[in-house]
Amino acid sequence: MAKELKKDISEVVEQYLCHSCGSCFTSCGHDSISYSKTVAGYLFPKIDYDTCTNCGLCYDICSGEHFNESLVAKTPSDPFVGDVIGTYIGKSTDEFIYKNSQSGGIVTSILTYLLDSKKISAAIVTTMNSDYMPDSKGIVITSSKELLEAQKSKYIPTNITSLLPKIEKIDGNIAMVGLSCHMHGLENLIKIKKKLNSKIIKIGLVCDRVMLHSSIEFLSKRVTNSKVDNFVFRDTSNSKYPGDITVYSDNKINILDKSYRKTMKNYFTPARCYLCFDKMNIYSDIVVGDPHGFDGIDRDNGESLVITRTSLGESIVQEVIIANTILLRDASFELAIEGQDINGKRKKWNANYRAWEELGYKLPSYPKDVIENSIVAEKKDIEKAKKALKHSLKLDKYITREELIKDANDFYENKTSKKSIFSFIKKLF
Ligand SMILES: Cc1cc2nc3c(=O)[nH]c(=O)nc-3n(C[C@H](O)[C@H](O)[C@H](O)COP(=O)(O)OP(=O)(O)OC[C@H]3O[C@@H](n4cnc5c(N)ncnc54)[C@H](O)[C@@H]3O)c2cc1C
Repeated sequence: MAKELKKDISEVVEQYLCHSCGSCFTSCGHDSISYSKTVAGYLFPKIDYDTCTNCGLCYDICSGEHFNESLVAKTPSDPFVGDVIGTYIGKSTDEFIYKNSQSGGIVTSILTYLLDSKKISAAIVTTMNSDYMPDSKGIVITSSKELLEAQKSKYIPTNITSLLPKIEKIDGNIAMVGLSCHMHGLENLIKIKKKLNSKIIKIGLVCDRVMLHSSIEFLSKRVTNSKVDNFVFRDTSNSKYPGDITVYSDNKINILDKSYRKTMKNYFTPARCYLCFDKMNIYSDIVVGDPHGFDGIDRDNGESLVITRTSLGESIVQEVIIANTILLRDASFELAIEGQDINGKRKKWNANYRAWEELGYKLPSYPKDVIENSIVAEKKDIEKAKKALKHSLKLDKYITREELIKDANDFYENKTSKKSIFSFIKKLF
């Protein structure tokens, strides 16, 4: 009788449940997994069935598809908010790090302190490479000087947990800066890589979503058809916080207004991001984001919101304050949650989750507390969610990237001309 085949991550990819974290690569003992981009710019794993032994481990640890027992056990009673020890707002005291940062340079300053004081031996961070069209790339760094090139947010999928085999070989503690999908992947992986549990300091970023890699191509092509040397989603060195888009090409700095990013955000959102409940990165030791909703913020240059979730995270933040590497003031956790519109997230997530099921796709399996803490969406919200999800899937139906970019251009022109007609009519009355 033929042996029954075990499930593998191809099934997860087919259902668009992969969130591109990189953990399946780390789980594979046979180097059978590699990553490539789809037409729309989803970053998905691919299995080489010539070397795959069908052990099923990649499926077993996939947090895009399910949370395993240890991750379920670590889930706080309200998963949309998470546990908290301290909430702060502030910035780096290092002028260069601050100027080169996304919000307040807190992430880079904490890592600099940890590396320079030898509290960690290495850190996993995300930088941009410079292919014909730049792309994000996870790297393992061992010196604080290397941190500068990793500053600023890359709003595209990056499979950084695929770097974990590299850090397993390094003595001492490691810090990983990641989105919630990376932390979910890491936690599920701990089931088979127990040593990682005590070794990694988790610095999480608040994250509502990434954008598909094709967004970089669309935005770059608005200003150049040449090779793009670097691409910055939010560049505060050429514009005020939160920063316009900068496309570096032909030795020229091309600035695109931030409204392009806002107008096209939904267009380029991957389906899987709509299904994620964890905007506040609840499994991290320290979480850093933008201080939305607070008064008295330095709006011209930026500041960071900092939430400590574990005693380890809190003690690190206190040490970094004492070392005068960062300057923080106390802030209200409730205001931080309100500023990130978590009640809106509870409702939108519920609508997306139900819409995904109604479209006939497999749901990611989350702890029951997630459903219980969401807000039941109305029929009209579910219908709206279906439209957005179908759009995300449609982008991968294009045969070529060029066709997709053309559609994105049409969408942009249509949306902005409707907006200007609307504001013209408004002015008349
Ligand atoms: C995809 C994404 C979505 C975000 N969404 C929100 C949001 O909705 N609300 C909010 O308040 N904040 C959000 N943030 C966080 C915010 O943009 C800043 O990253 C955060 O405030 C830290 O700023 P900083 O100045 O301290 O970091 P910096 O000193 O500039 O360092 C940035 C760090 O982020 C890491 N990083 C950059 N891109 C990625 C990536 N794609 N994956 C993993 N690590 C990465 C780098 O490795 C670097 O260590 C998001 C960030 C990202 C990357």
